[in-house]
Amino acid sequence: AQKSRVTIIGSGNWGSVASKLIASNTIKLASFHDEVRMWVFEEKLPSGEKLTEVINRTNENVKYLPGIKLGKNVVADPDLENAVRDANMLVFVTPHQFMEGICKRLVGKVKEGSQAISLIKGMEVKMEGPCMISSLISEQLGVNCCVLMGANIANEIAVEKFSEATVGYRENREIAEKWVQLFNTPYFMVTAVQDVEGVELCGTLKNVVALAAGFVDGLEMGNNTKAAIMRIGLREMRAFSKILFPTVKDNTFFESCGVADLITTCLGGRNRRVAEAFAKSGGKRSFDELEAEMLQGQKLQGVSTAREVYEVLSNRGWLELFPLFAAVHEISSGRLPPSAIVEYGEHKPNFS
Ligand code: NAD
Ligand code: 13P
Repeated sequence: AQKSRVTIIGSGNWGSVASKLIASNTIKLASFHDEVRMWVFEEKLPSGEKLTEVINRTNENVKYLPGIKLGKNVVADPDLENAVRDANMLVFVTPHQFMEGICKRLVGKVKEGSQAISLIKGMEVKMEGPCMISSLISEQLGVNCCVLMGANIANEIAVEKFSEATVGYRENREIAEKWVQLFNTPYFMVTAVQDVEGVELCGTLKNVVALAAGFVDGLEMGNNTKAAIMRIGLREMRAFSKILFPTVKDNTFFESCGVADLITTCLGGRNRRVAEAFAKSGGKRSFDELEAEMLQGQKLQGVSTAREVYEVLSNRGWLELFPLFAAVHEISSGRLPPSAIVEYGEHKPNFS
């Protein structure tokens, strides 16, 4: 059988860790070419050098994952078209807001019969309704697209602390198993479930709840309040997923991509951290400003996802069914104060 060739599209904090995981496997498994190509959105470092050149010289992504060797078989490539040319397994892992542009550039450039997987937590909202990133990839590039989500704070996996992840697939179990093989390591345990939408919506929506958790942290409301926010958030995640995609399975919420990712993100994620700073400033500093100051080029997904979810809810007349999701957007866009995160229940009906 032909060996598979893997390209990673994205090289941020998680993208770099994904490269490390994958490169440690391709070098061991006979069914893959050793080399893993990683497309890097090129930028100049303060030293004047190009990021790709430094990655290829030092084997480290000095900007987004300093101090971690990626593996000698990782090759950084600033040319998107060239990076995908020979690959038949494509791993997408960029902040979601860049994917529409990236897909447009890749139309007609991807090898026939390629398989894709998305590690991206987010969605797009179109006139016709919400579009998950895996669907955007599938539709634009004409490829099958699985997803991988989970309780996966990148910096912890980078230093090989144990965690789990979930691959979501549509029909082809064999392809899902190939992805599991590519990612699985003794410290990264991957399980496949047949529920692409459920897995992807879990990963996407938990970022909205993480902002709510950050607001209550910023307001110093304590653990009970935060647990309540997580419970209500999980319930809204499930309701929103099932109302959009009735095939979504309840069990998916008990996988790593569900409750486990919600917990880790509400405890230790970037969305939580920046939302806490936002609430501490009384909502006076903007998320854009805080993101730039606190994350050194890394990107938040929760603020735009909250806006995208809000758009879906208001278009469909569902705002009252999702008081927590609605409040997060109203707070992050400055229409309500951070304290509104625990006030919404008083004037809006709850659902069970
Ligand atoms: P990141 O937050 O580190 O973002 C920085 C990346 O965005 C860099 O590679 C940068 O080059 C790139 N970028 C900036 N401007 C760009 C542009 N105009 N076009 C294309 N790329 C541009 O990225 P990340 O942490 O790898 O996150 C990618 C996805 O993975 C997100 O959806 C995120 O939610 C998800 N994720 C992240 C983590 C984590 O812990 N970091 C864990 C699980 C999932
Ligand atoms: P943050 O983007 O909030 O850091 O979340 C990372 C994540 O998705 C953990 O699984």
